[in-house]
Amino acid sequence: MALYADLHRHLGGSVVPRILWRYFKRHDLEMARRFPEYPGFEKFYTRKRNTLDEYLELHTLVEKVQTEQTLPYFIYRLIRGAYIFENLAYLELRYTPYLRTPDHLSQSERINRMANIVEIVGKATQVKEYPIIISQILCMHSRLPYEVNKAIIDLAANMKVYVCAVDIAGGDSHYEERLEEFISLYQYAHSLGLKTTGHLYETPDGCYRELLPYLMRIGHGIQIPLKYPELLPEIAQSKQCLEICPTTYLKTGTLDDLKELKVVFDRCFKAGVDIAICTDNAGLHNVRLPFEYENLLTQDVIDFHQLQACQDSAFRHAFAWPHKEHPASLLTGLLQDNPENRDLVSV
Ligand SMILES: [Zn+2]
Repeated sequence: MALYADLHRHLGGSVVPRILWRYFKRHDLEMARRFPEYPGFEKFYTRKRNTLDEYLELHTLVEKVQTEQTLPYFIYRLIRGAYIFENLAYLELRYTPYLRTPDHLSQSERINRMANIVEIVGKATQVKEYPIIISQILCMHSRLPYEVNKAIIDLAANMKVYVCAVDIAGGDSHYEERLEEFISLYQYAHSLGLKTTGHLYETPDGCYRELLPYLMRIGHGIQIPLKYPELLPEIAQSKQCLEICPTTYLKTGTLDDLKELKVVFDRCFKAGVDIAICTDNAGLHNVRLPFEYENLLTQDVIDFHQLQACQDSAFRHAFAWPHKEHPASLLTGLLQDNPENRDLVSV
């Protein structure tokens, strides 16, 4: 029984190290020479970085190999793992389609090729033997020009069959000079009826209150309870859910210890702000969703009741989950329909 929902996972960071290493071994002579044995590659790929920018550099390694031709190969393996090892019932997969188009083409040619990428990803995510409901979030990027970001919004609006929302990514410390531009892009997205999330309040340098009102969910947002708890009542009022990805903050050097998240969860629960626990880059970290849960529990960051509340929040705030409740509730309903099972369900 598939049970979990992950609302924040990057296509680039979703390739587990062994799959990527095997791919390099077969198709990339230089990487194969550099990492003849798997353990060396795993160490390089999953090691902690000093800053968010340094960490995001790693994405380019995967973006380069996720082309029109290879995307179905990587996505099939991602879905197989998500179903078998993570029990996912629902997944929102995010990426910047422009960065999957051939980089020798002109900007306008690359923009034209983006729809093809969304379709390839959309078709590849429908795997009969591993039934997970998957929708795409298209990421604007803080280092891409306005025209490309606007085209990404247009594409999201035109391909709602595959796309559920737009996001902004690329490092939240790079928004400042173009804040007005990003606000106007979000306003444009709302005018087209698109749902929105955005990487914001992830690092101390990425706290832009002006952007907050345009986001239906906040990608990370941990600096809000940590440094600006006075904003929490407002966030609760507007029902904005935080997408918290615990392992990321250790890998980017944003936090030193998972225990620092306890105050994040406690303040959010107290203020009535929903949290969805997510993986961000399950492959790059080599930490899958059940282990994110387990790490928080074993380090006493949250208890089992809080975990369940976060799991329910993930389904409630999912942009394309059709039931608006946790799949376990559906199962409980089915069990309760049978009178012989009533005692069993209440245990
Ligand atoms: Zn992210």
